[in-house]
Amino acid sequence: MSSRAPARVVPDVTAAAVRYRIAPIDLKGHYFEVVCEVREPDPAGQRLTLPAWIPGSYMIREFARNIVAIDAVDAVDANRGGNRTLALSKLDKHTWQAEPCTGALVVRYRVYAWDPSVRAAHLDESHAFFNGTSVFLRVAGREDEPHAVELIAPRGKAYRDWRVATSLPESKAKPDGSQRGFGSYRAESYDALIDHPVEMGMFRLERFDAAGVPHEIAFTGHIPNLDAARINDDLAKLCAAQIRFFATTKEAAPFDRYVFLTSVTGEGYGGLEHRASTALLCSRDSLPVQGQTERTAGYRGFLGLVSHEYFHAWNVKRIKPGAFARYDLERENYTSLLWIFEGFTSYYDDLFLVRTGLANELQYLEMIVKVVDDVMAGGGRKIQSVAESSFDAWIKYYRQDENSPNAIVSYYKKGSLIALCLDLYIRRKSRGKASLDDVMRLMWRRHGRDFYAKADADGIGEDEFPSLVEEATGVDVREQVARWAYGTDELPLVEQLATFGLALRFEPRQQGPSLGVRIPAAAGNECRITHVDDGSAAHRAGLAAGDVLVAIDDVRATAGRMDALLSRYRAGETVDASFFRGDLLQRRKLVLDAAPMRAVIEDAKKASKTAMAMRRAWLTDTNVSGR
Ligand code: ZN
Repeated sequence: MSSRAPARVVPDVTAAAVRYRIAPIDLKGHYFEVVCEVREPDPAGQRLTLPAWIPGSYMIREFARNIVAIDAVDAVDANRGGNRTLALSKLDKHTWQAEPCTGALVVRYRVYAWDPSVRAAHLDESHAFFNGTSVFLRVAGREDEPHAVELIAPRGKAYRDWRVATSLPESKAKPDGSQRGFGSYRAESYDALIDHPVEMGMFRLERFDAAGVPHEIAFTGHIPNLDAARINDDLAKLCAAQIRFFATTKEAAPFDRYVFLTSVTGEGYGGLEHRASTALLCSRDSLPVQGQTERTAGYRGFLGLVSHEYFHAWNVKRIKPGAFARYDLERENYTSLLWIFEGFTSYYDDLFLVRTGLANELQYLEMIVKVVDDVMAGGGRKIQSVAESSFDAWIKYYRQDENSPNAIVSYYKKGSLIALCLDLYIRRKSRGKASLDDVMRLMWRRHGRDFYAKADADGIGEDEFPSLVEEATGVDVREQVARWAYGTDELPLVEQLATFGLALRFEPRQQGPSLGVRIPAAAGNECRITHVDDGSAAHRAGLAAGDVLVAIDDVRATAGRMDALLSRYRAGETVDASFFRGDLLQRRKLVLDAAPMRAVIEDAKKASKTAMAMRRAWLTDTNVSGR
């Protein structure tokens, strides 16, 4: 690629303070070109910075590493017949400062886009996708002023049917090409600008209304015989239930329209929430085929993902921790409350499936059991609280390694079980008069509803949650929050579920004993250890992550037959473990552990009428409220 001379740009006095133009210019090489124009740049030399992270994904990603060429000109000189090239100095890894100029500053750069996740930018001949955090330099000092963006279609016949899907608000004066979505958009601030990802391409577009609000779903990828009508019906139900859950008399939904940008691949799974849209990644197999009526576990997983990201439109995009009221996108933003924002969202995502009939009660209870098993499988829950896990998300939860199960607890999974325990506790203590739903709605009214309307919105204080619960429900949960979220005590799941006529018990997961290691079955025959549980048989014998087990008592060990091989032994018996560490064969005596436990949940034998009524209220009542 050669760098072309900067275009002549004449500043438009009616335009926004900051304007961008973005075009996919080299689809085979995965480059966007971005032009950023600042009408009245800082006379001392304008600073421009690319975010180091994207809200919703708490890890420093240093997106600036994908800016591969950048230059700047003074546009007043351009009007007089020649561009004056301005020097750009690099101040740190993601900040540039332009030489002072008299007219408008025009900065042009290319962004390499080859990240298939929902967190960055991706471009090839099939489609273009970007988050603003990957492509739009922040103009220091102008963050709170209106920003304008022009989306340019790629040149060439092959792309003439490309369209745009985004929740970015369109500008009133839409230039040519608007029928395909290319053209001008606006955002009231930089924070808004980077909160509306953009998809360009030949996606399939579906539309439905939920509680009177228009919704769009763009499906990118090869999906033969997709039953889009069924997805529309199911999502309409789910979205309407969530809108009504938070609805106040003042407004129904916190957005005028909502867009799902869905990338469909062989095995993807993930999502990232935004204020009026979400970027989703899902597998082809999880989406329903025309003529198929069964609701598969994969499809329930897709609905759960949609439910999760959609719930975030309220919980974290508007009800926020104080630490996120104004993001500092150059460095880590610390909060101990991700267990509320991710954990509670993880609780309500599946709860909304059962409350809207998209999962039955048995399927819902199986989802709870799966989360209990995942939390109980890691010793990390005994040494890290979800509050600590939230705070250290940047260096631990988002940067997991072979020791993570021993060191980390998931604020998603344990956070969702804390929400479950709090919900059941509040329902029991208030004799069914109040629930966690009331807490969510108070947080919405107090901190969420007007978040973007107030310049000084401050979010939820780090210690504010227990008093909000008491105000909303009359129930004091200070001690419970201290033990469950800020401590490492086991959660009283058995006791809490019992009052709702449910018996939770634990039984051995397998017949034979255990080594206390994790070996992915997908590895085929090779028995490569990915994790060793602290205190386990393997730990005591000195096995480590990366070791390849080859035999137990000289019988060949394979990943698929490990349980069968161990089923001939009893806990406490000693075996010879043979394994490779690097290319050296090793042998250790290993005393086998008892099998790990798994959760089972059933109807209690003698559930009272009250318990059954409480369960019905919990699982069926969407508490449609006009408050
Ligand atoms: Zn989430």
